[in-house]
Amino acid sequence: MSETAIHMPSADELLAAKAATIYAGLNEFYGQPQWQGGEDPVDELIWTILSANTNDTNSGRAFRQLKATFGDDWETVRNAPLEAIKEAIRPAGMYNQKAQNIVATLTRIKELEGEYTLDHLATMTVPDALAYLTALPGVGHKTASIVLLFSFNRGAFPVDTHVQRISQRLGISGRRDSPEKIKGIWERLLPPETYYALHLNLIRHGREICIARNPKCEICPLQRVCDYYSRAGEWAE
Ligand code: SF4
Repeated sequence: MSETAIHMPSADELLAAKAATIYAGLNEFYGQPQWQGGEDPVDELIWTILSANTNDTNSGRAFRQLKATFGDDWETVRNAPLEAIKEAIRPAGMYNQKAQNIVATLTRIKELEGEYTLDHLATMTVPDALAYLTALPGVGHKTASIVLLFSFNRGAFPVDTHVQRISQRLGISGRRDSPEKIKGIWERLLPPETYYALHLNLIRHGREICIARNPKCEICPLQRVCDYYSRAGEWAE
C-alpha cells in the first residue's frame, strides 16, 4: 500500500497566495501600470515632501510654482529667503514645515554629494538606499520608498493611507498594523517587480472602490479574498 504525502500549506504560503490573487485581480480589473522611467530623484524627493497631507493637485501646483519661481537649479532654492520658498509652495499646505524640510534636505544632499544628485541610489542595495534617504531631514519610510520605486523602479513598497486601509481590510496585515509593518509584509509576500503596478492599483482602488467610508464592496473584484467582506456586519473601523 502506498502513502501519498499531502502538503498542507502554511499560513505564510496561504497569505502569499492571497497576495498573488490580489495583485492579479487588480491588474485584471484596472490594467497593469508599467514603469516607463522616472523623474529625477531629487525632483521626486522634493515633490514627495510637498505631497504630505495634501492631494496630487495641490502638491503638483506647489512643485510647479517652486520651479517657476526659482528655475531648475536647486542651489537657487537652497539659498532663497525662506519666506519666498513658503510663498511658492503655499498650495501644498503646511508650507512652514515643508519649506524648512526642503532647505534642510537640499543642504544635506549638497554636504554629502557635493551637488544636488541622488543618482548613486541606483547602485546601492535597497536597504542601504532606504537608510540613506531616511537619514535626510524630514524624510520618512514612505517618502524614501516612493523615491526608490518611482525614480528607479527599485524594490521598495510605499504604504500610504489607501494601501494601509485596504491591506487591513483584506487581511494581508493586522487591523492595527503600522504602515512600516505593512510595507514589510507586502515585500515578504511578493517579488519587487510587482511593487510598481501593485502600489498604483491599490491607490486607485482606494480612491474609486475601497474608499474610507462605505467601501463599494458590491462592485469590488477582491470580494472573495477580503476579510472585511466575509465578515460583513462584524467589522468596526
Ligand atoms: S470587498 Fe470591500 S472592503 Fe474588501 S477590498 Fe473590496 S471594497 Fe475593500
